[in-house]
Amino acid sequence: MTRVGIGYDVHPLVEGRPLVLGGVAIPSSHGLHGHSDADVLLHALMDALLGAAGLGDIGEHFPPSDERWRDADSRDLLARVRALIDERYRIESVDLVLIAEAPRIAPYRAAMRAGIAALLGVAESVVNLKATTNERLGFVGRGEGMAALAVTALAEREAGDG
Ligand code: MG
Repeated sequence: MTRVGIGYDVHPLVEGRPLVLGGVAIPSSHGLHGHSDADVLLHALMDALLGAAGLGDIGEHFPPSDERWRDADSRDLLARVRALIDERYRIESVDLVLIAEAPRIAPYRAAMRAGIAALLGVAESVVNLKATTNERLGFVGRGEGMAALAVTALAEREAGDG
């Protein structure tokens, strides 16, 4: 059986924070604010994976009230999520959408995709990454924040399934 999960996340943009998207550091005067590194793409992805596996959300697994996760590298959190689902499920597809007015993602897309695929232990062809602006509308359009969406599909492993 294939199980599908959806994830959505938003973080505010503030001056002087590092900008980390999809596990890649991007030179920028503004970065996303949050308790961890605020990697909005990986957060949406983790919620989609946990959703597909029926395992709740990242707030349950990595509560912001827990000092262990302060300034956490979201790549480490994603590796933990993978460990939670790995025994029972194989990741069949990951589709990500970043909603931001800037920066252009094209120069970083290959690195993000390769990094995410490596963290999940899947082929790069399993991971798709898109970006769109918000046509200057709303908080994203005003440059106050970024949003991300993720959809994932997991297949239940059977005996002998790699
Ligand atoms: Mg988040």
